[in-house]
Amino acid sequence: MKVSSLDLKRQYETIREEVNKAVLEVLSSQSFILGPYVESFEGKIAQFCCVKHAIGISSGTDALLLALMACGIKHGDEVITTPFTFFATASSIARVGGVPVFVDIDPSTYNIDVTKISAAVNKKTKAILPVHLYGQCADMDAILDIARIHGLAVVEDAAQAIGAVYKGKNAGSFGDVGCFSFYPTKNLGGYGDGGLIATNNDKLADFIKLLRVHGSKSKYYHSYIGINGRLDAIQAAVLSVKLNYLNGWSEKRRAIAAYYQHHLKDLPIRLPRIEAHNTHIFHQYVIATPARDALAKHLDRHGIETATYYPLPLHLQECFEYLGYKKRRLA
Ligand SMILES: *Cc1c(COP(=O)(O)O)cnc(C)c1O
Repeated sequence: MKVSSLDLKRQYETIREEVNKAVLEVLSSQSFILGPYVESFEGKIAQFCCVKHAIGISSGTDALLLALMACGIKHGDEVITTPFTFFATASSIARVGGVPVFVDIDPSTYNIDVTKISAAVNKKTKAILPVHLYGQCADMDAILDIARIHGLAVVEDAAQAIGAVYKGKNAGSFGDVGCFSFYPTKNLGGYGDGGLIATNNDKLADFIKLLRVHGSKSKYYHSYIGINGRLDAIQAAVLSVKLNYLNGWSEKRRAIAAYYQHHLKDLPIRLPRIEAHNTHIFHQYVIATPARDALAKHLDRHGIETATYYPLPLHLQECFEYLGYKKRRLA
């Protein structure tokens, strides 16, 4: 038997009729950019994430970029984040002219080590950008405390964590802005690129809505230098259908993860640590072992596909050499 790490065709078979109908409706409407399908989806996802505003964005990367723009991060501002995440977390900081400041992770959860954040704060620090890696929330209480003490913005990269819960609250609802991705392989995946910004702040919501349409309040008049950052109607229609299934799919992921936790517990590998106060959505089930490559090869020979998340941390990427981390390794 072949076990692939993700089989979207199998999922599609279970929702084909519904999704096809929704997409055909958009085609009949010939209304593709923003509009009623996007607004309806934004309403549903705001409710799902327990936030006041949900704003459909063209991708998770653009959501991060717009969030940082809206929080006023500009040239020379430092933003504290984790080096162990997808590239877009840190590239979005650099793209607004900011400086990513990498704080090491807690190896048991792979999330930012909150005990090391305060030491990285200085006068240039403007924001903290935690990532809820693999679908488990970072320690948000500690992060929000540090942010409050130093007057920092908090932007959550919740791209992998839609539906994850920390101490009874939803991922993406803690900070000033929460960012989600609907890249097809994410737990809530569209049929193309897509993303979302969640916020409880009315002013930030208004500002982000302007920034996603070229900073324009009325057509061809631009108050700000924004971007084309809109979610399209076909994605919104697909995502609206899939959202109805998301909790069920997350339950299934948790049940499979629990099976792994139980049956792999006596092997010489490090299993994921799930904090008691977290509801993990297992975007990925990640194990660690010094024999990684040999194990991956062994599993591959038995038809079981694996992937490495991630082969090279961001502080050691060629494009971030200018930050100087090669010399000062993270502790
Ligand atoms: C997927 C992902 C992103 C980027 O989202 P896109 O929709 O692919 O642009 C950002 N951060 C993390 C942690 C991700 O996993």
